[in-house]
Amino acid sequence: MLTIGAWLLALFAPLAAAAGGDPPGLRIERLASVAADAPVWVAREARGTPVVTLGGSGGNGWWRITIDDPGDRARVLVLADTYGGTVTLVAADTAVPVRAMRFDPQLRQPGSRHRLVFDLSAAAQRAPLLLHLDGLRSVPIRAQLVAADDYAREDRMRVRLSTLVHGGLLVIAATAITNSVALRAWPLLLFAGWAIAMTGYLLGMSGEIEAIPGGAVLLPHSLRVAYLSAQVGVVLAFPFFVWFLGLRQKMPRSAAAIHGCAAAVLVMFVVTAVSPALPSWIANISNTALMIGQAVLVLATMRLAWQGKRNARFLLLAWVPTILATQLRAAGFAGWIPIADWTELVYPFAVLFAALVLNLVLAASARSVADAHRSLEGRVDRDPLTGLANRAALARAATQQLQHAAATGQPLGVLFLDVDRFKPINDNWGHAYGDAVLKAFADAVRAELRSSDLLARYGGEEFVVLLPATQPEQAARMAERIRLRVQRQCREVDTRRVDLTVSIGVASSRDVSGSVEALLHAADSEVYRAKRDGRNCVRMHEPGLLNAAG
Ligand code: GH3
Ligand code: MG
Ligand code: MG
Repeated sequence: MLTIGAWLLALFAPLAAAAGGDPPGLRIERLASVAADAPVWVAREARGTPVVTLGGSGGNGWWRITIDDPGDRARVLVLADTYGGTVTLVAADTAVPVRAMRFDPQLRQPGSRHRLVFDLSAAAQRAPLLLHLDGLRSVPIRAQLVAADDYAREDRMRVRLSTLVHGGLLVIAATAITNSVALRAWPLLLFAGWAIAMTGYLLGMSGEIEAIPGGAVLLPHSLRVAYLSAQVGVVLAFPFFVWFLGLRQKMPRSAAAIHGCAAAVLVMFVVTAVSPALPSWIANISNTALMIGQAVLVLATMRLAWQGKRNARFLLLAWVPTILATQLRAAGFAGWIPIADWTELVYPFAVLFAALVLNLVLAASARSVADAHRSLEGRVDRDPLTGLANRAALARAATQQLQHAAATGQPLGVLFLDVDRFKPINDNWGHAYGDAVLKAFADAVRAELRSSDLLARYGGEEFVVLLPATQPEQAARMAERIRLRVQRQCREVDTRRVDLTVSIGVASSRDVSGSVEALLHAADSEVYRAKRDGRNCVRMHEPGLLNAAG
């Protein structure tokens, strides 16, 4: 299906491809040792002459290129995808063969190493060029004659775009590393490692590795660096996806298959690292393991996405462009479709896109962890019966508000509430009914409070109200309002007559110096006084301002 997708993409691409025949402006002839059926593709009129693709592994050997319209301008012969092969050009003007390898440190050519480039003088363009291809894998190479200044522009753009991708991937990797440390989510390191490995792969494949500090030493081994990086990428990405999707719990057999494929690639990584040459069977085994692992992963992801799993949906979104880009490249390398320049940019940008999407999802899941933590914290702070702040939360809030009161000079009022004769309610009607009464009581008190006030359950049938920026007299008036409301609103609870009342002690930070405990203690002692005075009344800490009722 994905291959069909790649085909469709290629069909809709601005490509006018035709197999066989000579492109306008160029005559291509197969000479010694080139298979007679080695395919030649002609594609896309870009600047300069059409792009000619000299096909497959059968393309090793001598080719003759005749230019029909030799110009006076300096032109370059540009060869793409020559990777590990050697290219030799014999031009009539000098008749000295020029041998070039893309990752040869001695290579002297204009611009970057994204391409192999041969300068062609006007004289060289007038006689046939002899081109020898050697050691090329089954990757078709593309040849084009381009005006030298046009080529310089294109090359600069390619370098800029690849630098953008490399930089983006490294920033994402750095973010993932810092997140993994901050959140102690170690699997994020797999993701970071994958992003770094992908950067290594792209640096190796483009020859840009030369530009990083110390990279010149690695340049002759660019292909090996690319292979090793790609293998590391798979070895890290597969377990990351298994973790990301929770596959071990949800689909253990798929998880095992994916881990198996990662293990196979890991073995090939070791072989790649130690083997002197790079035999193609290494790539074949690695690619097969990659394909199988990827297929299992895609099927598992699609199933989970179908079931509505968020991570699976995002993984599909992130991964489909990369998979399509891979298939597009693979189809090009297999010679099924012509390779266009833009297709080589699709892959790096698809990788960058995938990294961005995944980073976003990881950040989002970090947030939901934080949310869950906060709501858990909320639960820890709450009294489960009434939903009010509990004693621990009260202590914290009171300390904070007391400091605020000291700083602003606005006193903090404290009310201590104790429900009158609550025990007989429990004894007569049962504990569950007692609970309902406590809830009704809390509702009645809450109804009198301002939004800045805090009502907390101190324990049992005892409650505390914090009244920030409240003078003691105001606090006493508030206590009285609460007392009256309870008397009125809690006469009946659940159609049963209870005639609930409350005794309230009042204290203020203006009159009680010291800690929260001292303030609460002062208010609590006033409750005892209220009880002694017959209950259903308010008593205030400051003698002389007693506000008795009931
Ligand atoms: P007083 O007027 O002197 O305050 O009398 P009281 O009966 O209200 O005081 P006491 O402290 O003797 O009784 C409080 C009762 O509150 C005892 C306990 O069983 C009950 N209680 C404490 N927590 C809960 C609870 O969460 N639910 C219920 N239903 N009852 C509780
Ligand atoms: Mg009590
Ligand atoms: Mg009581």
